[in-house]
Amino acid sequence: MRALVYTRPGVVESLDVAEPAPAEGEVLVKVHAVGICGSELHGIRDAGFRRPPLIMGHEFAGTTPDGRRVVANPLISCGRCDQCLMGRDHLCRERALLGIHRPGAFAEWVSVPEKALHDLPPDMSFETAAVVEPLANGVHAVNLARPYPGARVAVLGAGTIGLVCALVARQVTDQVTVCDLSPDRLAVAGRLGASAVTTTLEGEFDIVIDAVGAAATHQISVQHLRPGGTAVWIGLLSSEAAIDGQKIVREEKHIVGSYCYTAAEFAQAVKLARDVDLGWTTSFDLADGAAIFGELVDGRSDVVKALLRP
Ligand SMILES: [Zn+2]
Ligand SMILES: [Zn+2]
Repeated sequence: MRALVYTRPGVVESLDVAEPAPAEGEVLVKVHAVGICGSELHGIRDAGFRRPPLIMGHEFAGTTPDGRRVVANPLISCGRCDQCLMGRDHLCRERALLGIHRPGAFAEWVSVPEKALHDLPPDMSFETAAVVEPLANGVHAVNLARPYPGARVAVLGAGTIGLVCALVARQVTDQVTVCDLSPDRLAVAGRLGASAVTTTLEGEFDIVIDAVGAAATHQISVQHLRPGGTAVWIGLLSSEAAIDGQKIVREEKHIVGSYCYTAAEFAQAVKLARDVDLGWTTSFDLADGAAIFGELVDGRSDVVKALLRP
């Protein structure tokens, strides 16, 4: 089958590879749409969790051999460790992600544990379903922030994760400010229902979601938080965080990290995907995947979410 393979640092290429052989309890899924994640653009530059050769791709939807239209939760947990037993399966001690720790969906076929599959509503397109995984990240980040009606929420970054966080927060409060340097991305945020968009965050917020993860946004997320407010860090750009520890103490500010989603939140995202606008993706042929990857890594393309169609 054709697959887009991460072969060495900085390089993905289209190759012919063997079809995956499903293990017991797994199902082959024919991939119809798969999103390119920001973490993959960074992940191939520095040697990190992803070790080449690897077929990446963890945001995908497709069909099973018996005709089910499905989306898959790419996070596989053990079900036995202390975290799993406490319902925090996303923090499983042995968690593995499709497309990171085992072959993913930048290919015609991907093997998936059957229990990871969710049926799609009949009217949901594969393009929409491919955004369920990022949406589930937004559901989890917003749940951690415990928003309430009227809460002032700021979202830093209007890439895919920032936009889904804004969409989810808007379900609870009508005060969602989105901050980004790109006017084009801010225009998308405005269209999706952000109450304000800005290139420079000003004022105070009850909740700040940092969907960038740079040293500067880590700082901004705490500076613009009201006493007792919550900053949720979901962006992974940098480890640096030059923040004022005493301010955290004196103003009882909360900083909480957000990683993936629980199995329940993924199921919630499948339902929510029907009610929010996820139609801001751009689709390309899988055959052009290597070129698209290159453009996104170099910043020559400004599409918010690129989907590949095998
Ligand atoms: Zn991702
Ligand atoms: Zn576990």
